[in-house]
Amino acid sequence: MTARVLVVDDILANVKLLEARLSAEYFEVLTATNGPEALSVCAQGLCDIVLLDVMMPGMDGFEVCQRLKADIATAHIPVVMVTALDQPSDRVKGLQVGADDFLTKPIDELALIARVRSLARLKVVMDELRSRAMTSASLGMPDPLAHALKEQGRDGRILLIEDRASSAERMVTALTPLHKVSIETNPQEALFRGAEGDWDMFVVSLGLKDYDGLRLCSQIRSLERTRHLPVLMVADLEDRERVLRGLDLGVNDYLMRPIDRNELLARVATQLRRKRYADLLRNNVQASIEMAVVDQLTGLHNRRYLELHLTSLLDNAAGRGRPLSLMILDIDHFKAVNDTYGHDAGDAVLKAFAGRVKRVVRQGDLVCRLGGEEFVVVMPDTATPVASVIAERVRSAVQGEQFTIDDGARTIPVTVSAGLAESLGDPNADSLFKRADRALYRSKNSGRNRVTADAA
Ligand code: GH3
Ligand code: MG
Ligand code: MG
Repeated sequence: MTARVLVVDDILANVKLLEARLSAEYFEVLTATNGPEALSVCAQGLCDIVLLDVMMPGMDGFEVCQRLKADIATAHIPVVMVTALDQPSDRVKGLQVGADDFLTKPIDELALIARVRSLARLKVVMDELRSRAMTSASLGMPDPLAHALKEQGRDGRILLIEDRASSAERMVTALTPLHKVSIETNPQEALFRGAEGDWDMFVVSLGLKDYDGLRLCSQIRSLERTRHLPVLMVADLEDRERVLRGLDLGVNDYLMRPIDRNELLARVATQLRRKRYADLLRNNVQASIEMAVVDQLTGLHNRRYLELHLTSLLDNAAGRGRPLSLMILDIDHFKAVNDTYGHDAGDAVLKAFAGRVKRVVRQGDLVCRLGGEEFVVVMPDTATPVASVIAERVRSAVQGEQFTIDDGARTIPVTVSAGLAESLGDPNADSLFKRADRALYRSKNSGRNRVTADAA
């Protein structure tokens, strides 16, 4: 796992030191000696991770971080603040301005490499999700990044796995006003509850009496239900090697005892923000997939979906020697509805029309909006006589009751014409369509508000 790391420090010797260590691990290193320079490198999209010194003349590290996190173009870049050991409040302040992590000077080499590696892994996933989310933005979906930037990392549902009562108590007290914490002392039970419950993250003690906390972390990472959830390890100073193993296993972060209340709060908030950001992107991707095949006005499947599925439905029917019928519906004189009552009234009719068709066709029938005021119903396992009955049901459901427009202020009559074709002996989607369309044309020509089946 390699990445482009930007090292920012006003003291050249510090820059050189970090550069040498990171290069030795095959990271690509860029450098900057002041805030504005760092912002410019980030804005150009040249780096994957930023190591940021706090104390710099002019614009200090906090301000640089704050600016990076406030800009949609750079907010996703992980920032590691490099703070002085004797200023514990710097850590909290750094995390509060949105830093993803911090290291203390003098920098522990193993911690440096482990954290940069784990952030590089995270960045790869985020970039993938982001690029997919861009596609959804181009489809007119709301921007998930703008939303994510407002996330505060509060109200987390946290499962704490710790068997030392006093330590658990202390952490619960620290977290409770802002989050909901549940303690579990039994690791097996924790795994079960973790998979069953609705959690935002896990906090795992590496000092469990009869169980290896690292094993638990790796189990959480491998279970389908929990693999996306952040894990924060709580370790003793002598656990250093195991902490590094944990980070390699994909654990998101760690905390050393004695636990600093503010640090715990800040690290939990960071993980929650990151998780919700990822969830948002994932949902956004899901929504854009749906959007591509669902008609936004009526909620029916759209033409694209029909085109994707009709061929396989036809192949399936032909393979089983079963019939399939296709119905095309076209609302009569719909242009007049728009012209007389306005486009909104037209939309209201289309929506209600879709609802009525859905209601009277059968469960296995596929209803799509082809575009405009044209709809298609695909009826598997259905020959013309039954298809005609269904089509007649649709026709009379439309004519049977007037349509409400102007928010219920008035109702208007609407009718629909239908054309039917059956696939048996004709498994070709195009020609089936043409035949149904021809039948529809006959319905229109012979007075509308009627059903015609193609004779084949
Ligand atoms: P016919 O009985 O021959 O089908 O006549 P028609 O007026 O229904 O047919 P035509 O194809 O001439 O007009 C269809 C109209 O549907 C024209 C267009 O303005 C309207 N339309 C298409 N899509 C929408 C939509 O999404 N919303 C609304 N309100 N109207 C739409
Ligand atoms: Mg029409
Ligand atoms: Mg039309």
